[in-house]
Amino acid sequence: MDSPPIRYEPDVGPPLPQTEAEIRAQVIQVCHMVWQRGFVAANDGNISARLDEGRILCTPSGYSKGILQPEHLVIVDMEGRPLEAGPGLRPSSEILLHLEAYRQRPEIRAVVHAHPPTAIALSVLDIPIGGCLIPDAILALGRVPYTEYATPASAAGAAVIREPIQRYDALVLRRHGSVTVGISPLEAYLRLEKVEQIAQITKAIHELGRPTPLAASEVRRLLEWRREKGLLRPGQWEEICEECGVEPSP
Ligand SMILES: [Zn+2]
Repeated sequence: MDSPPIRYEPDVGPPLPQTEAEIRAQVIQVCHMVWQRGFVAANDGNISARLDEGRILCTPSGYSKGILQPEHLVIVDMEGRPLEAGPGLRPSSEILLHLEAYRQRPEIRAVVHAHPPTAIALSVLDIPIGGCLIPDAILALGRVPYTEYATPASAAGAAVIREPIQRYDALVLRRHGSVTVGISPLEAYLRLEKVEQIAQITKAIHELGRPTPLAASEVRRLLEWRREKGLLRPGQWEEICEECGVEPSP
């Protein structure tokens, strides 16, 4: 007998920001949320959004995300060269990372890079975030792969996302931080919030006892749901199983 359908739905958010003023306002809203939630400290983290095919709006280097205002944002071209920047403002040192994400994913409109503490700690220990422990991890994100380690703000730091960002909306740069993408700054931010929440649950599971994965049949059902919603990118199914040892053969 068929099991009843899963009623969970992918995030449905407020209308997407359209004008430059709306995009600036949402980038700043996300800056403040990232800072308030402790996903960044001091001047860490950077946020960007596509204005059009050739222009990216991004946070400036050296500013706390907690105090940024719309006029502080910088506009760069697809090579990272500043097109518009207020006095003394330079594009984020991690702009190459953002540009790599936009190159690999033509449909995304925003990138958030932050330093969520629990997710970073798990990446050092190589403990998968979520794995097949809780359904939410599979429904919301599929998987949160760890990239190879690379020096922050280097060209190598951008190169490590080239391959995995093609298949996942949330990645963790090993020992460094998160990269989440979306069709709006808010969507990319909400994925970051999910990454750190699932990382905290994973940490609690490991602290309190022995992690036991979901049944293979349930993992299969959750992956089927991703496929039905058009969220399952090629390779995800196999990679999820490889990571947690569950074998939900398609
Ligand atoms: Zn960073």
